[in-house]
Amino acid sequence: MNIAVKAQNEPFNTILQRINNDLQTFVKDKPLADEVTRYLKNLNTDGSWQDVNYIDVQYDPLKRIKDMATVYIRPSNKLYNNTELHHAIVKTLQNWLDQNPKNKNWWYNDIFYPQAIGQTLILMRNAKTGLPAELEAALIKRMIRRLKTGDGANTSDEALHYLYRACLTKNKATLDSAARYLFEPIAVADGKEGVQVDGSYYQHGKQQAIASYGRVFAGNSVNAGFYLRDTEYALPKDQLAILVDYLKNTFLKTVRGSFYDFNVRGRGISRKDSLSSGMGGMVSKIKRFDPENAAYWDASVKRTSGAEPPDYKITSAHNQFWKSEYTLHLRPAYTFSVQTASTRTLRTERGNNENILGKFLPDGATNIQRSGSEYANLMPVWEWDKIPGTTSRDYPDDYGATVLKEWGIPGTTKFVGGVSDGIYGVSCYDLDYDSVQAKKAWFFFDQEVVCLGAGINSNAKENITTTINQAWLRGEVASSNGAQSTGKNEIWAVHDSIGYIFPQGGNVEISNKAQTGSWYRINHFQSKTELKHNVFKIWLNHGKNPQHASYQYLVVPGIDAAGLKKYNRSMIQVLKNTDELQAVKHTGLDMLQAVFYKAGTLTANGLSLQVDQPCMVYIKDLNGKNPTLYIADPAQENAIIKVLLKLPGLPKTKSIDCTLPNGAFAGATASFNIKE
Ligand code: CA
Repeated sequence: MNIAVKAQNEPFNTILQRINNDLQTFVKDKPLADEVTRYLKNLNTDGSWQDVNYIDVQYDPLKRIKDMATVYIRPSNKLYNNTELHHAIVKTLQNWLDQNPKNKNWWYNDIFYPQAIGQTLILMRNAKTGLPAELEAALIKRMIRRLKTGDGANTSDEALHYLYRACLTKNKATLDSAARYLFEPIAVADGKEGVQVDGSYYQHGKQQAIASYGRVFAGNSVNAGFYLRDTEYALPKDQLAILVDYLKNTFLKTVRGSFYDFNVRGRGISRKDSLSSGMGGMVSKIKRFDPENAAYWDASVKRTSGAEPPDYKITSAHNQFWKSEYTLHLRPAYTFSVQTASTRTLRTERGNNENILGKFLPDGATNIQRSGSEYANLMPVWEWDKIPGTTSRDYPDDYGATVLKEWGIPGTTKFVGGVSDGIYGVSCYDLDYDSVQAKKAWFFFDQEVVCLGAGINSNAKENITTTINQAWLRGEVASSNGAQSTGKNEIWAVHDSIGYIFPQGGNVEISNKAQTGSWYRINHFQSKTELKHNVFKIWLNHGKNPQHASYQYLVVPGIDAAGLKKYNRSMIQVLKNTDELQAVKHTGLDMLQAVFYKAGTLTANGLSLQVDQPCMVYIKDLNGKNPTLYIADPAQENAIIKVLLKLPGLPKTKSIDCTLPNGAFAGATASFNIKE
């Protein structure tokens, strides 16, 4: 090839070759050949399939045609260069062109169809006998859609088929706009859809979408960066930094082992296998254009693929996402997250009849993972008014947990958030929903998470319950019901290497039996097959009409019954648990965490902490000479909070005017070093 021709073909051919290789990365020849053989058997003479409904058509038939093209071009496949198969590919594509199917859901028409057609055409460019030129040209024309810019993950999804078309036609203008719009979503968009200043992700309004739409954003952005690397269209450095930060510090942290935190999948929680992270080579790809973080990407691949255990290269971290009301607490031994909602955000959506029963998902749902698979595919049989962590009415049937309005509904209270130093923290949720009120707080340490509830009120006719967990039943359930109680009124339980302690007892109920349900029950696109799974469920029953009821429990992940017996409970001191103030001291870690729902004073053993506004406070090195004060305003309203502090290690009372972050950072944590 002479230089002029080569230059004319670049970078189109390079990009086409990369996409072609990418489309074949996970292909298994034998199973795919078997599948394609079945497709060929029930193909009609006109190139349609008898088992495909062409009205509101979804993935088939285009997925089948793409599979056919894949096996046809692979020399390792037994259907390689098969004449009958070639006829079938041409016939089915021609049929698609003639029928021109449409779906009521724009996503298929504007994203899936043109992407799938583009992929098939790119694969067929590598065939020994390609497609008739006229057919290919007509299909390329069919791929043209108006691009909806500024629509986050959807924009990059659309720009991807622009990229396919640009390279297939060697059109520089189309490639220019494809590259621009593929990378457009890689930006920090305060309050708008996309990556937020706290590292979380919004879509469909101010709704946390870290691994739902954020997964699409990450996947598309990585693919684009991978395809365009080392060309004049390569991802600019400043945008690469945003993408790397999102993957490293947010997205990959929500994956435990090979499974997502159920709090980050949005309405996708109601889809089969939706907690399986299936990184699809994404992390290996980014390594190719971000070699600086190679060690980190390698570790992530090993961990999420199961080649290494879930704790592999996990370091302790605590993230408070003040834009999304989501808390993520990581330890080598476990992941613990909390999702809440405020008047500033939207509650987890029901949409297109997906996530039908997820009414209580944003009411303090706690995801507790050790292996990662604790909740994987358990959702069809979940009792949906007993989502782990939530306090709600205990309805007799599913109807009570039904989200009655499609798409996002705003939260109801403003005092929702957390304070964090990046390793430890405390989160709170002022619950006022479905005729139930409660002040809920989570205190995060190393070995344990302390969960407090106070001011639990309701006049509803059902019992009010706080659910501690609802996960796959795995092995024995040990509990103080069946063994000697270790404390005065204490109740404890251990299941699947997670310990639960109720220091003051309470009406604890445990069930370990089969529950039934179907995916259809929670998502009308899913199977109606009735499933039966064994479930471990533990909850507190506050009874009917609770007034000023409260709860305390500790979650101690990574422990067995013998370990829990020895576990030093005296390290945890619950100093206060009322609807005005919740405070916990950890003597082992020498720290104090407090939620002031009202201005007030906390006094306890030589300590006095006074605040002039509602806020959250966390003090590290409590008895030392140089303690650190962390403070946040979950209501995101105050510019300055005055703190009066008397600590055991300090001779004098300190008065601190805490200036808090503002603008996009309102709700974030401010820190103050306190010296003698
Ligand atoms: Ca119920």
